[in-house]
Amino acid sequence: MKRIDKLFYDGQWQTPRSTKFSEVINPANEEVIAEVIQASHEDVDLAVQAAKEAFVGWNATSPEERASYVEKILSGIQKRQQELEDTIIAEYGSSRQYTKNAQVPLSINEMKGTLEELKRFSFEETIENATIQKEGFGVVACVTPWNFPLNQIQRKITPAILAGNTVVVKPASNTPLTAILYAEIIEEAGLPAGVFNLITGSGRDAGNYLTEHPDVEVISFTGSTDVGKGLYKPASTTVKKLVLELGGKSAMVYLKGGDLQKAVEAAANTVLDNQGQTCSALSRLIVPKEELERTKELLKDYYSKVVVGDPAKEETKVGPMVSQDQLDTVLDYIEKGKAEGAEILVGGNKLEGPGYFVEPTVFVNVTNDMTIAQEEIFGPVLTVLTYNSVDEAIEIANDSIYGLNGGVVGPEEEAYQVARQLRTGNVIINGVTRTAKAPFGGYKQSGIGRENGLFGLEDYLEIKAIFR
Ligand code: NAP
Ligand code: MG
Repeated sequence: MKRIDKLFYDGQWQTPRSTKFSEVINPANEEVIAEVIQASHEDVDLAVQAAKEAFVGWNATSPEERASYVEKILSGIQKRQQELEDTIIAEYGSSRQYTKNAQVPLSINEMKGTLEELKRFSFEETIENATIQKEGFGVVACVTPWNFPLNQIQRKITPAILAGNTVVVKPASNTPLTAILYAEIIEEAGLPAGVFNLITGSGRDAGNYLTEHPDVEVISFTGSTDVGKGLYKPASTTVKKLVLELGGKSAMVYLKGGDLQKAVEAAANTVLDNQGQTCSALSRLIVPKEELERTKELLKDYYSKVVVGDPAKEETKVGPMVSQDQLDTVLDYIEKGKAEGAEILVGGNKLEGPGYFVEPTVFVNVTNDMTIAQEEIFGPVLTVLTYNSVDEAIEIANDSIYGLNGGVVGPEEEAYQVARQLRTGNVIINGVTRTAKAPFGGYKQSGIGRENGLFGLEDYLEIKAIFR
């Protein structure tokens, strides 16, 4: 078992003031794989101080110089890709397939995309007698969840440091090992001391203390909507900027004349891959009433071939839920779905342990007012809803407190017209892959701000006008 008894700040692995540890559990077999130090408030203070001291120098470097460090981090990720994958599988439980094809490649693609976009970005512009200068804010506190243990961190650090900020990261307690590996990669990249700092610890304690810290200028958070809402309070203490990537309950709308199988598989994959622990999952499949029977057949057929089990095995598609807590949450939602009158088409049960496994589940006879159609389950649970007219389909899709992602499968032009009416930050038509350079983020309670590409960069840029 690994014992991580250091925190990374001020360019070094430091002996913490804290003596408290927390266990990291492999969710596939419930074995304790590591113990990780839990930063105390004093440790947080030291990490923030290091970031604050490094800011002026880092912010004064050229964007090209900052980009050259990000290039080095990128090649470090590529060099240690296998190790990152193994770590993500062990501490988080996403299948090898998904980890290899999505978890780590996402980071590589997004970093490459942002670096390319940076070349056409100007940190300075002129408006009549004003020179507009764009620069870092100062210390950015990054608080991240476990569902993409590497990429949720990368998505914040890459733009934040490119913009000239310094960062203190607090990763999720379930998945600190990937974050520690990322810190090692940053150390190897030779980033100046204090630009990147990592504190492992509990969200309610170290995380909360970090977000309240008077020397933090920006709080960048990804995670649950509840914790996200709570961050307005620490943000208000010193008027910090808030960047929030929160939950979703996104819809896949199938339009007559499109490829139904494609719609079914595209929606199903978003709740099967990553065990459905993906904020952009298309967890509501909305089909014309007369297509319901065919949809059910396609779903039963597709799910009958899905392999659930040990995430380390090549053939596995669906691994365990990240934790006992998350498993309990998913099982509670399944019970609520049944109690509110939805009908189970596939799955619906816990799988015998060890490991936090649940059967991939599909609900039919769902109406959009049901809890399972309104709340983010964050598990392998798909809800199928029906509509009578395209207007009604759009209304159902938009009847949500969230607005993160969306999918439309159907005749191209009609699908595009529907996509334009969805109140969400992203919409994918006919299952195409999204470019990593496009903004990612949500409308309504899915968050504020955008990640990736130049939109992601701008969230971390302060703006000054100098008149002369
Ligand atoms: P969470 O509680 O929101 O945790 C996300 C991050 O915030 C973790 O690093 C957590 O630390 C930290 N944190 C928790 N309370 C905090 C506080 N008061 N102040 C500062 N930081 C705090 O999410 P979760 O418990 O891991 O997952 C719960 C639900 O959130 C899921 O079921 C899902 O619905 C949603 N979720 C959404 C996303 C997304 O990408 N939008 C990702 C993950 C989860 P600890 O790990 O130490 O608690
Ligand atoms: Mg939590």
